[in-house]
Amino acid sequence: MQTQILGLLTPLMALLFAVTFAVFWRVGRMKRHVLGFAIGYVLFAIGFLATHFLPANAFYLFHTTQFFYSLGTIVYIASVCERAGQRAHVGSLFGVYLISALVLALAVNLTSDVGPRLIIVNSGYGAMFAMGLATLLNAKRRTIIDIAIIAIVALQAVDFLVRPNLTLMFERNIPAEVYRDSVYYSLIGLVLGVKSVTAAMVLIAATISEWMTTLRESGERDPLTGLQNRGSFEQSIRSLLPLAQNEGRPLSLVVADIDHFKQVNDIWGHQAGDHAISSFGELIQSMVRGCDKAGRIGGEEFCIAVWNCENEPAERLAERIRLALSRLQHSGINEDIRLTASFGLATARDGETYEQLFARADEALYKAKSAGRNRVENAERSNRLDVVSAQDRDLAELIPVAAVQR
Ligand code: GH3
Ligand code: MG
Ligand code: MG
Repeated sequence: MQTQILGLLTPLMALLFAVTFAVFWRVGRMKRHVLGFAIGYVLFAIGFLATHFLPANAFYLFHTTQFFYSLGTIVYIASVCERAGQRAHVGSLFGVYLISALVLALAVNLTSDVGPRLIIVNSGYGAMFAMGLATLLNAKRRTIIDIAIIAIVALQAVDFLVRPNLTLMFERNIPAEVYRDSVYYSLIGLVLGVKSVTAAMVLIAATISEWMTTLRESGERDPLTGLQNRGSFEQSIRSLLPLAQNEGRPLSLVVADIDHFKQVNDIWGHQAGDHAISSFGELIQSMVRGCDKAGRIGGEEFCIAVWNCENEPAERLAERIRLALSRLQHSGINEDIRLTASFGLATARDGETYEQLFARADEALYKAKSAGRNRVENAERSNRLDVVSAQDRDLAELIPVAAVQR
């Protein structure tokens, strides 16, 4: 009775971990590798139950446990690899399972000694973990949690490849009928329990840390455009400015404001307006580099901190964005209508604060508005030449929003 209850302990713990991961995945809307951890632990729990409760001398005992442990191992390895941004070779992992299942079938037919069976199935799991380890080692990211997961996978590989051989050196022959009374069996209960808890603790820590990162990032994002919100953008640029000055790198600031946006809401409705804001945000995101910072700092106002960029290339960037917007078609807005935006640009001077830099870029934006909109005004070049480009002339056939009457 006592043994039966103890036998339930490991599967129950595994199921508890499975529920924990499933709740994280569902409630935290986390990525699918967290669901993979849950499925892996369910499969391990079924394997643990089979190990303990199926008849000890049943010919199918090892086939059944091998099936569930292998499936659990494959899902587990695929999930930890996906978490690290790597793709596990699932086909090869299944290949290992199939080969060891065939060899196991041979061993079950040839001898009633469970020793060879144990070596075969455990070598299969060991090979799978070794393959998972090789994939994980390809990942570039190495946080402390990544290292802990690599260590756990490496330990699993070593344990499965070494432990059965070591134990069986002391207990040479285990007939199937007395398998559950063997030293091997007592040891495996303990080892599997400890490994399962340790691995789950590391994965739970990894999951909590990912959840916290997602929460923090979603608090810093503007939900409509996916860009940084005002607070987070200001925080970024406040830390970028001294960095640029210390490293002697140029930093330019572009402020953009969609022209006549009130009319968009008035004529096509607030939803069409939202769509347009979101499209402009996506456009900006697609045109800046990874090292730049882009934020939505107001209703239809955007700001870009162009890192390590002199004034002229930053002006060309603003010009490219302006042109791209003026070509963009918007859902919910007549096909022949194009929205435009005005841009102000300033490049940080020595010792300048964010407030001073922003004020200069904003003043340039104001000038762009009063000079007729749909243009880039550069604070570093007050006598801007007002040239209409050939591309602008082509676009003139499309009607700017200001010309539209209700
Ligand atoms: P200007 O060319 O001078 O910039 O003209 P404008 O009409 O764009 O002027 P203003 O900046 O004063 O108006 C911005 C409008 O943007 C006012 C507001 O109704 C609208 N707006 C602000 N936030 C949102 C939003 O999240 N969604 C939508 N649909 N409209 C917004
Ligand atoms: Mg505005
Ligand atoms: Mg506006």
